Amino acid sequence: MFFKTSLNPIHVLTLAGLFAAPVLGLTLFHPTPLLLLLAYLHLLWFGFASSLYYHRVLSHRAAKLVPALELFFLLGGLIGLSGDPVQWSSVHRFHHQNSDSDEDPHSPKRGFWHSLFGWYLRVHPTKIEPILGNSSELAERKIISWARGYGPSTIIHIAYAVLLYIWGGFPALVWVLYIPVIMSFFMAWALVASFCHIPFFGKQPYPETRDRSRNVALMAPFTFGESFHNTHHRYSSVGLYSEKWTEWDMSGYLLVLFEKLGWAKDLRRLPK
Ligand SMILES: [Zn+2]
Ligand SMILES: [Zn+2]
Repeated sequence: MFFKTSLNPIHVLTLAGLFAAPVLGLTLFHPTPLLLLLAYLHLLWFGFASSLYYHRVLSHRAAKLVPALELFFLLGGLIGLSGDPVQWSSVHRFHHQNSDSDEDPHSPKRGFWHSLFGWYLRVHPTKIEPILGNSSELAERKIISWARGYGPSTIIHIAYAVLLYIWGGFPALVWVLYIPVIMSFFMAWALVASFCHIPFFGKQPYPETRDRSRNVALMAPFTFGESFHNTHHRYSSVGLYSEKWTEWDMSGYLLVLFEKLGWAKDLRRLPK
């Protein structure tokens, strides 16, 4: 479905521009300590928006967040270019329904680069349209429905970029916005879709998933805990993947903290 389409020029230009950010940051626009601190905080914001919110809370209904926190992460997803949350969820649920089959949008069976970001270059809204029904309950929620399509993400992202530029010029744009965007794209998402579906890496404690999903513990600190991907495929609606103290699941720990603070409820956990 997705990989048979031609390139999506918006996604190609977006990714090309994002790849330019670290090059510009390391050559022309050197960071101050303040910019580095803000870059790290934005990486956390965008990464958790993708991993904790778009993936676990929205796509898998692993917990419910209080509205203010939900809006905070939704804005992180829009500014961080995760885009339309219903499309994101729809493509991801389709991945779970068709893991490593011919219909899987980003299985490494079609090549490593395809699974890393090649598939993203070919995703087009008309190809997502037929599968949007698998996330229709999200589209009906008021806090989500206004964020549909390319428009809201584009407007909010550009508004945030303009504010950053006014505040700190190109160094702020590159370091506080675009380097965290491309880092979170790979850390919270692309590395998992690729490496965690390649049999060579990690372990598969739940072979009954009948797909190629893997747990790659070494990648956990760099993927917000998403790399316990075989556990996730086995228990997809669970919000905390960690089964022992050596398994660091950052997004899961943060959900537990939110639950203790009363900011999240109905957090689903692994069976004992
Ligand atoms: Zn997967
Ligand atoms: Zn998932």
